[in-house]
Amino acid sequence: MQSWLDIPQNSDFSIYNLPYGIFSYGKKKPRAGVAIGNFIIDLKRAYKKGVFEDIKIPKKVFDKPVLNDYIRLGKPVHRAVRKRLQEQLQDPTSLLFHHQQKLLVPMEEASMHLPVEIGDYTDFYSSEEHATNVGKMFRGEANALRPNWKYLPVAYHGRASSIVISGTPIRRPMGQSRPNDNEPPVFGPSQAVDFELEVAFIIGRDTELGERVPTEHAEDYIFGLVLFNDWSARDLQKWEYVPLGPFLSKNFGSSISPWIVTLDALESFRTQGPEQNPPVLPYLQTEGARTFDIQLEVAIMPKRAEKETVVCRSNFKYLYWNMAQQLAHHTVNGCNIRVGDLMASGTISGSTPDSFGSMLELTWNRKNPITMSDGSTRTAINDLDVVIMRGHCEKDGIRVGFGKVETLLLPAE
Ligand code: MN
Repeated sequence: MQSWLDIPQNSDFSIYNLPYGIFSYGKKKPRAGVAIGNFIIDLKRAYKKGVFEDIKIPKKVFDKPVLNDYIRLGKPVHRAVRKRLQEQLQDPTSLLFHHQQKLLVPMEEASMHLPVEIGDYTDFYSSEEHATNVGKMFRGEANALRPNWKYLPVAYHGRASSIVISGTPIRRPMGQSRPNDNEPPVFGPSQAVDFELEVAFIIGRDTELGERVPTEHAEDYIFGLVLFNDWSARDLQKWEYVPLGPFLSKNFGSSISPWIVTLDALESFRTQGPEQNPPVLPYLQTEGARTFDIQLEVAIMPKRAEKETVVCRSNFKYLYWNMAQQLAHHTVNGCNIRVGDLMASGTISGSTPDSFGSMLELTWNRKNPITMSDGSTRTAINDLDVVIMRGHCEKDGIRVGFGKVETLLLPAE
């Protein structure tokens, strides 16, 4: 596909992508948009100009400050909109071409907002390498993976209220930890703030309480994916997590990238996940290529450094459990899901030390510091560091990317 619009060759937002977000510019209220090259298509205005005439979209859906109502319209509508935008971006006689001054907003003039109202948030733990690394550090080589791990996609319920958009600073949390096992716990700022490299999917369709989503239909319930930094305070986590799992060590903030990349955009990057052995129970079985080849990286930009340092390169396809399995498991007991719910993958680590998705693993529990481009070292995230995550797919010269999620860590208050 060739567009009349000048789209940089290395842009994450090619004509094959067309991810959705919520943006504002000038004095305008937040509205729905689609990213293309260095521009955002203003869907509210495009609708008014008749770009989507004859597609069944109720009035004002694109005027809302979140995408939930649009997502609820369903995949046939999303696909029709995608096709229409691709046609108009190629056709130099289209409405989009004629009204480009009004309909295309330069990205640098826009502010991005949280794209959906997130009802519930679940965090999985689906990377075998991550679970094994953490297990080795905390329980030793012999008990690294728990007996349940290869039979079910382990997860916990997180907190939706503290999920923020890229660019929103996170403050170092206060809390309890127990640095010395022979002394009582202490209270103070966390001394081990960490990132977790994750990808999250956003639910695109409601279910009823009591209903199950089988693996073969699970993708019908997924609208799209975002990058997800699940901020973690390791010292707080270590002390609080027994027996119910993480709580305050996780819920002080998680950051997402602003553009939701749809499953349709990711279709050409489908690939096979790892072989699952022992075989999974029938309700978790999937066939074919059920994951995606998404290249991921994490960089740290210290306050006065001239350039960032890439500390991790990983890939979404390394995950042991795929999204269909996660969703089938999540609903197998009848738990209902709602449009806008967010389900994160868990830290995505690969098998080599440079592919580990957290500082906990990269520094092997703070034993091996990482050197930054300015010569300073890290075993955790410092105050005023910016953590940047990026992700993209690329094949046969076609690129579909997520942009980035970047977050400044502020000192404790
Ligand atoms: Mn996590």
